[in-house]
Amino acid sequence: MSMHFVSIEGLKKEFPVKGGSSLVVFDNINIGIEKGEFVCIIGHSGCGKSTIMNIIAGLDDPSDGVVIMDGREVSGPSLDRGVVFQNYSLLPWLTALQNVNFGVRARWPRWSSEQIEEHSCRYLQMVGLSRSIHRKPAELSGGMRQRVSIARAFATQPKLLLLDEPFGALDALTRGVIQEELIKIWSETQQTVFMITHDVDEAILLSDRILLMTNGPGAHVAESVKISLPRPRDRGTIIEHPGYYKIRNHLVHFLVTRSSQLAGGDNDVETLTVDPIHDKEFSNRRETPDPQPSATASLSNAG
Ligand code: ADP
Ligand code: MG
Repeated sequence: MSMHFVSIEGLKKEFPVKGGSSLVVFDNINIGIEKGEFVCIIGHSGCGKSTIMNIIAGLDDPSDGVVIMDGREVSGPSLDRGVVFQNYSLLPWLTALQNVNFGVRARWPRWSSEQIEEHSCRYLQMVGLSRSIHRKPAELSGGMRQRVSIARAFATQPKLLLLDEPFGALDALTRGVIQEELIKIWSETQQTVFMITHDVDEAILLSDRILLMTNGPGAHVAESVKISLPRPRDRGTIIEHPGYYKIRNHLVHFLVTRSSQLAGGDNDVETLTVDPIHDKEFSNRRETPDPQPSATASLSNAG
């Protein structure tokens, strides 16, 4: 039995390839996420991040392993898990408010229209869109559209939010503003968040923990890096913290050098826990006790 809020155990994904063999994208992925935690995952393109997220969302099946959330195995999509994709995925014929209402109504079907609108407006306000709620996606900038999809995901108050490179398509300035809105809304709502990003600074700003994936095929999570920088954090001052560049250098070094060195299915798939600020590194390897004859075994022997 797992004690984590979300427990990803022995996850494997393989795709058949021509000629009868198969491509193992990743293998033996083990991740535990605590309630209220903000976890980012970083790894080179193609290592399987989106596939992992889709499996957690229940939109794809693993070849092996399980995802357990809140004590139950994930076996399909659910309103308990909200997903924000890179391409916004708003309904183009609905206004910003109607897009958010749509999700809220699905979540609480017995609410009155007034209740739904009030709730949706509150979340649109949190992402700074109070004055644009009646505009359709085509009348909104890319940054505003992404804010609507974030408001929509948070408004349904899923137990777990899954964000797949949600700011990848935005310019740096807009991205910075929305990152801070995301921090604000996360700290207000106490959501559990699992986010994919390729932006090291974004990951440090937002995360409690950053998971580092090796390159595929046969990718695995090599490290879990603790981001023990104090909160609240903001973009302006976080870089002044003496530990910031220790973390940053550690992550960049991993991505540039170690992600490929550690790649390949033959490596030890143990995940190392690292705290670069405190120069700490400790292994997560579970102590496996010597095999002992179980009660059932001795009973059947006796019988
Ligand atoms: P990431 O998000 O880390 O960039 P993905 O999860 O999108 O990686 O993809 C991981 C790997 O799986 C890639 O090599 C990709 O080509 C492969 N892949 C994804 N979907 C399929 C599929 N339906 N059939 C075959 N290979 C796939
Ligand atoms: Mg991806």
